[in-house]
Amino acid sequence: MSNSPSSGFMIVVWLFVLVLWVLFGLWGGRMATRSGLEYWIGFLVGFFGGIIGILVLWLITRDRAMENQRRIQYGQPPYPPTGYGTGGPNATANPLKVCPHCGRLVVESARFCQYCGTAFTMTAG
Ligand SMILES: [Zn+2]
Repeated sequence: MSNSPSSGFMIVVWLFVLVLWVLFGLWGGRMATRSGLEYWIGFLVGFFGGIIGILVLWLITRDRAMENQRRIQYGQPPYPPTGYGTGGPNATANPLKVCPHCGRLVVESARFCQYCGTAFTMTAG
């Protein structure tokens, strides 16, 4: 009972902030997994960035979601759950090729380059 009332109040405030940080971390992690990022990346961004981190994640995930929509429109698979291109679970199912015009990796079954719009002609071998 000899403790000053302000210290007890500060502990409650810090606990509240800590819970908020963890909640933001969990939120960020969920947003990250939905857009194909690693869960812990979203968790860390949400945990340390708070509402700003969530906003940044939202912008990133919105951008990726739009990119995924574009990919589906072109008849290509959306982002793999983790990582890009080689090594991913879709690497063998959807082989990639290099666009002769812009040099970026595109799905082999694509008829147009999703980056520069170059139409792919039939390549012999
Ligand atoms: Zn291209």
